[in-house]
Amino acid sequence: MIDIAIVGGGPAAYTAAIFAGRAGLNAVVYESELMAAKIVSISQIENYPGFPNGISGEELSDNLHKQAEKFGVDTVYNEVKKVGLDGIYKKILIDSGETIKAKTVILAIGEMAQKLNCSGENKFLGKGVSYCAICDGTFFKGRDVAVIGGGDAALASALYLCHLVKKLYLVHRRNSLRATKILQDKLKQCEMTELVLNHEVKEIQGKKFVNGILLQNKETKTVKRIDVDGVFVYIGSKPNTEIVHELVKVDEQGYIITNEKMETSCPGIYAAGDVRKKDLRQLVTAAADGAIASFQARQYIEMHY
Ligand code: NAP
Repeated sequence: MIDIAIVGGGPAAYTAAIFAGRAGLNAVVYESELMAAKIVSISQIENYPGFPNGISGEELSDNLHKQAEKFGVDTVYNEVKKVGLDGIYKKILIDSGETIKAKTVILAIGEMAQKLNCSGENKFLGKGVSYCAICDGTFFKGRDVAVIGGGDAALASALYLCHLVKKLYLVHRRNSLRATKILQDKLKQCEMTELVLNHEVKEIQGKKFVNGILLQNKETKTVKRIDVDGVFVYIGSKPNTEIVHELVKVDEQGYIITNEKMETSCPGIYAAGDVRKKDLRQLVTAAADGAIASFQARQYIEMHY
């Protein structure tokens, strides 16, 4: 029986772990490769307070693990398959087949950027392929990049990047953009932007780093290459909520609905970080969510057990 089962692998999960450990609670983090992937894929973090020279995602993740361990919180590297209830207790089924009983659960299970699933995408992750313009945009200052997608996220990122880069190609699979008109109008003001409509990315090419993409015209099927140093993929994302299907309330896009105490619709189950319905998905807001969830879980344990 543990006090808090923390499911996740990013800053929300590990901040919750640090707070739980310091409060003397018996907490365990259940981390899968997928959950930790997002933070580790950020080459340089420049907007996390306290690191004036920035820090790599890998190093920050490493530090978070060490800090949680220092306060006695163990990490179990095993995927959580399902979270359910057993009376007032929570039960967590992990990949090894074991079922763990916990008094509370913190879901810091994040969201995943949708992938293009084209050749070269995984190979050049962190070497020119990015899913976060705010995190990685400055590395492409004065260089040529492509943003893939036609929604608000793609255009908002293109607007952020177009002031940094030399040339920006916005590549979209249809002839019209999905993004709101205001973003489309703003993008028209960015002279260095070229729209490449009705094209799909077939391959991301490079040697050690990205140096181009192959695009196929959806009507004529002709393939062309454009030279770019960076590819920012913004074709939607989805929260990782399958493990709590029908246990907690989610919004129409699948993000977990919480109040400001990070309480979900299920008593004793909290959500923190990117998996929550929220406006700003950043490392710093994820860490704050984790701290609040941990504090509230402790209060819950004191009241109910
Ligand atoms: P989205 O609105 O679902 O747009 C995804 C875009 O990617 C669509 O244009 C889609 O094309 C394209 N796409 C999907 N799968 C693809 C594939 N396999 N290959 C190539 N293209 C693909 O997602 P989002 O832009 O991430 O936005 C998500 C939500 O957040 C939206 O509600 C949005 O309004 C909101 N948001 C708002 C802002 C803002 O600044 N206001 C910023 C970010 C996000 P099709 O159009 O052909 O389907």
